[in-house]
Amino acid sequence: MHQPLEETRARIAHAASIAGRQAGDVTLVAVSKTHPAEAIEPLLAAGQRVFGENRVQEAQAKWPGLRERYPDIALHLVGQLQSNKAEDAVMLFDCIHSVDRPSLVSALAKAMDKTGRRVPCFVQVNIGAEEQKGGCAIAELPALLDQARAADLPVVGLMCVPPAGIEAAPFFALLDKLARDHGLPGRSMGMSDDFETAIMLGATHVRIGSALFGARG
Ligand SMILES: *Cc1c(COP(=O)(O)O)cnc(C)c1O
Repeated sequence: MHQPLEETRARIAHAASIAGRQAGDVTLVAVSKTHPAEAIEPLLAAGQRVFGENRVQEAQAKWPGLRERYPDIALHLVGQLQSNKAEDAVMLFDCIHSVDRPSLVSALAKAMDKTGRRVPCFVQVNIGAEEQKGGCAIAELPALLDQARAADLPVVGLMCVPPAGIEAAPFFALLDKLARDHGLPGRSMGMSDDFETAIMLGATHVRIGSALFGARG
């Protein structure tokens, strides 16, 4: 029994039921970045198996030990990825949420060919057209998806992080529409402050850190 986990699961189930969806159609990705293995153990003990990290190196240090004891863990990369770390990422992660540019599509496709691993990917969209933000521009999305298809990269959906400080719902609705237009089933959207809204607008993966682990230092 893990109080924040139980509460988060109940909130996910409630939002899903309002939207006429099954709670099981929404994957909770517990974002454990910055938190040490000791903080992750209680969630593992309570049955959580899908986790998110935003740095390859941090994940390489933290997860092999935990994985020995919990072999059914699924590890998702939710942070920006440098092309020169693509092979490390493909070896370590079971899903990559941050594919956002042609050079990374090429690097990941090459890494998957070389390692023989096929890792499902989300294309991250810069949904609020913010200058500093990762993610592919909406105008560049069709070409990036074409490239990914041609390279046989397994793209399962779209991901976004809406602009901070303003209502996220319109951005979630836009990501949902883009995913539908491109025939993609996955929508990775919603974090601690807005995951219920995201679920009501079609999220299939919510990435939740602070609501589960407390504030990051
Ligand atoms: C840190 C992070 C999250 C989790 O954020 P919380 O607000 O702590 O829930 C989700 N997605 C990405 C891409 C992140 O970097």
